[in-house]
Amino acid sequence: MIKLNGLSKAFHGNQVLNGIDLEVKQGEIVVIIGPSGTGKSTLLRCLNLLETPDAGQLAIDDLQLDLARASEQQAIELRKRASFVFQNYALFANKTALDNIAEGLVTVWKQPKAEARATALGILKDIGLADKQDAYPASLSGGQQQRVGIGRAMAAHSKVILFDEPTSALDPEWVDEVLGLMKQLARQHQTMVVVTHEIEFARDVADRVIFMEGGRIVEQGPPSQILVDPQDPRTREFLRKVL
Ligand code: ATP
Ligand code: MG
Repeated sequence: MIKLNGLSKAFHGNQVLNGIDLEVKQGEIVVIIGPSGTGKSTLLRCLNLLETPDAGQLAIDDLQLDLARASEQQAIELRKRASFVFQNYALFANKTALDNIAEGLVTVWKQPKAEARATALGILKDIGLADKQDAYPASLSGGQQQRVGIGRAMAAHSKVILFDEPTSALDPEWVDEVLGLMKQLARQHQTMVVVTHEIEFARDVADRVIFMEGGRIVEQGPPSQILVDPQDPRTREFLRKVL
């Protein structure tokens, strides 16, 4: 469903991604782990054209594009198929929870406003926040804000949701409710690519774990292999530190 070939990206001569190939099947939950500064966020951001890579071919669903030369229209088509959940939620501070979810349906999907708001209300019910529809982000807890951030991705019915450390900005007390919502999505076979330091989540939910270092995929496989019996010394060293 997703096929990425030869993704490379440098920032000012600093080669951050070195020819990444990645395939994700429909319904698959892929968790990416690895040390800080290794290019995990850059990989996800390139997948949604939040960064323009230097090279990379992407096929997602029925769309094929040369990521280094994509037009604005292709970027919009890509973002209809791949939604992004940000570490810091990235909600519109001046919009209610309901309108944060409805916004993309109106601007990207061109839904009539009333229809978008009805969809958004349905999503708020699914994520247990129907009573917060008129609340602004500042009056929500971190966990609630991130659930709205995930709700925004759910509303778009994206082929894949890309999560960049969705719980690492949260106070510990809110982490479980966000991971719980992600597990709910996993049970519904939502295709997801998740960058996280939550090894427990990777163990419980991932179909495949990818260990990245230095802008490369070092090794990948089911959690029972990568998290329990990794073959590469770099993976072993990383896990020794985080487990
Ligand atoms: P972390 O676990 O800390 O989030 P990461 O694996 O997500 O790390 P990236 O954020 O992808 O790492 O960064 C990889 C490298 O690219 C780092 O050296 C970083 O400084 C650099 N980098 C990322 N974004 C930019 C940018 N916009 N401009 C310049 N350098 C950048
Ligand atoms: Mg990152």
